Parts: sequence; structure tokens; C-alpha cells
Amino acid sequence: MGYKLKFENFDKILKELSKENKIYAPKRFPKQGRYSDTDVIRYDKIKELKEIVFDEKSTYAAKEVYQPITETILYFTDGDYKEKKVVDDRPIIIFARACDIHAIQRFDDIYLKNGFEDFYYKRLRDKVKFVLIECPKDGWDTCFCASMGTNKTDDYIFGVKVAGEDVCIELKDEQFAKYFEGEEKIDFNVTFVEQNPRKVRIPDIQSTEIKNKIKTLDMWKEYDKRCLMCGSCTVACSTCTCFTTYDVNYTSDTDAGERRRIAASCHVDGYSDMAGGHSFRKTAGERMRFKVMHKIHDHKSRFKNHNMCVGCGRCDDRCPVFISFSTTVNRLADEVEKLKGEEE
Ligand code: SF4
Ligand code: SF4
Repeated sequence: MGYKLKFENFDKILKELSKENKIYAPKRFPKQGRYSDTDVIRYDKIKELKEIVFDEKSTYAAKEVYQPITETILYFTDGDYKEKKVVDDRPIIIFARACDIHAIQRFDDIYLKNGFEDFYYKRLRDKVKFVLIECPKDGWDTCFCASMGTNKTDDYIFGVKVAGEDVCIELKDEQFAKYFEGEEKIDFNVTFVEQNPRKVRIPDIQSTEIKNKIKTLDMWKEYDKRCLMCGSCTVACSTCTCFTTYDVNYTSDTDAGERRRIAASCHVDGYSDMAGGHSFRKTAGERMRFKVMHKIHDHKSRFKNHNMCVGCGRCDDRCPVFISFSTTVNRLADEVEKLKGEEE
């Protein structure tokens, strides 16, 4: 079932939806980009269609809605603690692209299916529904969703495409049909990306011997010279889930304060520090290897479902020294083929 609406009618629907839901979408923040006079596009609450950026990929991922970069999780005082309450408990609707919708499954793996359920994640995640935003025909230049199998999804309540002065809707969840009553009915289905110009070959790594040899490949050493270990790629990544915690004491002479968690990055110093001063993966190359293997092998091997990477390409977009994750994966695929050839 599809509908065609004028912008003002869609805004009325957004207004109705907002009475019972919090609505988030990619929004432009002028002149807040990395370089002077550049913008940033990130997720925020929206009220009107014109606030949503449809024609550019967002700088940051939809994950920031259900896993904020920083959040207070509990308050402590006098040896006791209290979890932070969610003040606005309404369901959450997120306008997102197919890759970002797939990304939440990777978060579910880590936060819900990894031997425990993360309380703070679950209480937000249980409220999330998606509105699918149609992508340009081939995505953007750094996208490789088709290689990762994340170019299509059916996990959305309705799909949306802006066509000139109209908004086309593909209704998926009949519970939301009431919002479109009286609107012009049309035949419309969201078109998914079928292929991207950028193709990524995921190496097939079965043997432990090959896995061990990957650790010593010379290709990782190149990143020792290039990678700044800044973590920009992981902050923007749709599927990087790591966080660390720190406590903020309100005054120096009481024990009252709050515990916050904040996004962490395997590229950044301190990530793997242990009690006693030991730390793993000191060089940029070792950290690059760890991230790449995690994204295209280790997660899938652990959870027996899908690779962690969804091919959004934000890591390539954000790296200040133009290190390309997708190129790195293709290089690794070549190296793995060579190693397999040596084994035969
Ligand atoms: S590794 Fe890069 S392409 Fe893959 S999900 Fe993260 S940001 Fe997107
Ligand atoms: S790959 Fe690029 S963005 Fe990522 S840590 Fe290295 S320099 Fe920073």
C-alpha cells in the first residue's frame, strides 16, 4: 500500500505521530562540521519534514539515538546508587537508511545476546521503530552495503521518498495506516540499492593457521606511519559499540556524583589498558588489524550470523588522513588468497 502526500500533509502526520512518539532523523547543523564553513549532519529530534536531510548521507550514524555518545547511567551518594530514569518514556521512531537499520542488529548481538542484557541499552532499544529512507540508486561513493548484504531490509513501519513536491510512502506496518487515512493512494514501494560502485571482497578465513598468519602481515605496518589513532572512524561507525565509564564527583569533599558512559575506540590509547599497566595492541597497525578483523570476521564467527560491518562507508568519509577501510578489507582479501595459495 502506498500514498502520495504534499509536504504540509506529511507535517500534519509528523505532528500526530509526535504526540505519542519521539521522532529522530538526520538533521543539518550548519557550520558545525570538522572544517570551517562546513556542516555536520547528525541525528536529532525533528518536527517537520524540511528538517530531515534526505539528499546526503548523515555524517554520524543512527546509533546515537539508542546508544548516545555520552550518557549518565546512575547517580551515587552515601555508598548507595540509583539508576537514571528515562524522563520521556515514549516510543522512538528513527528515520534511517537500510544499512543503519541493519546496524541495530549488531548492537543487539553485543548488548542483548552476549551472555547478559544491558539494562540501559534494552530500555531504549525496546522502544525503537524505523522509518526507511530511500537511498540514491547506487548509494554514495563510499558505500558498499551491497557487498555486506545490508542494502535491503523489511524492518520498517513505512518507507519514505521525497519526489519533487511530494512525499511517497510505502506503508509496511498496518498499525500506522490510521495516520494516512484520506491521503491519495498510489502504487509505491521503496527502491533499494542493488549495487554500489565500490565493491568489497570479504576474505573467507576458515583455518586458524591463516588467522595467525594474518597477525604478522606486513600490510598492517603501513598503518603505523599513517593512522593517527584518533578514533574518528569508530565514532562515526554505524556498528562500533564499545564504551567506557567514568565517575563525576559533584564536589571534592563528598562522595555524591554520577557515573557516565562514553563511546570508546579500539584505535585510541588507553582502550586496552589493564590493571598493572599492561596494554594490548600498542601500535596503530595492530589496532587496525583488530578493528578490521572484528568487522569482517570475528563478530560473525562469534555470533554465527552476519558480519559486523554494514558497509555504510562513514569510516572512509571521516578519516582525516584518507585511510580507506574498504580498500584495507580488499587488500586483506588478496593477502588471504596468497596465504591459501602457499598452503596448497
Ligand atoms: S566499519 Fe566503516 S563501513 Fe563498516 S559499519 Fe563501520 S563505519 Fe560503516
Ligand atoms: S583510521 Fe583514520 S579515523 Fe581511524 S583512527 Fe586512524 S587516522 Fe583516525
